[in-house]
Amino acid sequence: MISPIMNTYKRLPVAFSHGQGISIFDTAGNEYTDVLCGIAVTGLGHAHPAVTKAVTDQVSRVNHTSNLYQIPNQTELATRLTQVSGMDSCFFGNSGAEANEAAIKLARLYGHNKGIDLPTIIVTDGSFHGRTMATLSATGNRAIHAGFEPLLTGFARAPYNDVEAVRNIGKNNSDVVAVLVEPVIGEGGIVIPDEHYLTELRALCDQNGWLLMLDEIQTGNGRTGKYFAYQHSDILPDVVTTAKGLANGLPMGVCMARGEAATTLKAGNHGSTYGGNPLVCAAALAVMDAIEKDNLVARAAHLGERMLEGFKTELGGAAYIKDIRGFGLMIAIELTEPCAELVSLALATGLLINVTAGSVVRLLPALITTDEQADDIVERVSKLIKVYSGDDRGRPRT
Ligand SMILES: *Cc1c(COP(=O)(O)O)cnc(C)c1O
Repeated sequence: MISPIMNTYKRLPVAFSHGQGISIFDTAGNEYTDVLCGIAVTGLGHAHPAVTKAVTDQVSRVNHTSNLYQIPNQTELATRLTQVSGMDSCFFGNSGAEANEAAIKLARLYGHNKGIDLPTIIVTDGSFHGRTMATLSATGNRAIHAGFEPLLTGFARAPYNDVEAVRNIGKNNSDVVAVLVEPVIGEGGIVIPDEHYLTELRALCDQNGWLLMLDEIQTGNGRTGKYFAYQHSDILPDVVTTAKGLANGLPMGVCMARGEAATTLKAGNHGSTYGGNPLVCAAALAVMDAIEKDNLVARAAHLGERMLEGFKTELGGAAYIKDIRGFGLMIAIELTEPCAELVSLALATGLLINVTAGSVVRLLPALITTDEQADDIVERVSKLIKVYSGDDRGRPRT
């Protein structure tokens, strides 16, 4: 039997009908605590009143015109994003991959403008940049490449968190035009680099005239306890992409750029039919308002620390725990063994979580989580992992 949905996802046997804040309800009426947020998307939780109002107001007037015309709320959003990011200019698409595609095209054009015919972008092992041909070629995960060769050329790969490797690639390759990295690796297992990684990459890019391009699709929009993760370092990139949390679930991505990179793409070079239409911009503006009004960036920092401490207290030192780490509200509990089954066990206890990179329990809680809810999540997730791992307080693993 061929499914009417192409079989690109292994789906859990549950469908949701509605949500409220960090709770979401399945079609049978069971309640779940959403600690994944649709993979870092619904940072403001479900059915956020201000986002709902902005979207319904906008859709009742006009939801799409075209980028052939002026779009005032797109301009307003772009202005707000440049203010909060330190970038100069924005291009809007409909997803993370599209935002990264724009960055890759921008870097190639930047190279050609300098007389480099075969521009090369340095990317890293373990990265995830999307599923389009260019972004999957940039991605540092063989499983995502497999079967889709020939990959796009023009990428050179360095280990993550290794500035020397980037420097060495540049020494032997005069075609390098840009470095594209995630400030914290997300899909690849929440890998947090050394404190000075971005600062050192910035200096290296400055020395060589390369663009420093940061993929903040997952880390952006307050998730790490700063509006953008690079704001933990004292640097500005040349190009930043973000998407997931940008419009709380309406499809949207943005590629932002600064200085020369901000004027590289010209009329006719790039485009998108839907990108930045009035509907998604209304949602993103409401998201920015709520983040500001409710101080959610600071809340993310606070909640991240609180939950990380909580997990360390509950699980730290256990034989089955390899590492507990976090960067704001990107929290990883790495087990010593593969633990994909934890996802369905969690579901059965009313928790939506994720396991990535085989053995990393990945939590991406909402920025609107209260302290009380955060403590409850820590307790329930810890208990789940203890029981699963056969800790003496739980049942042995079968
Ligand atoms: C999710 C993700 C992407 C791809 O975003 P899509 O919206 O799925 O295209 C790219 N980069 C990073 C770091 C991501 O986490």
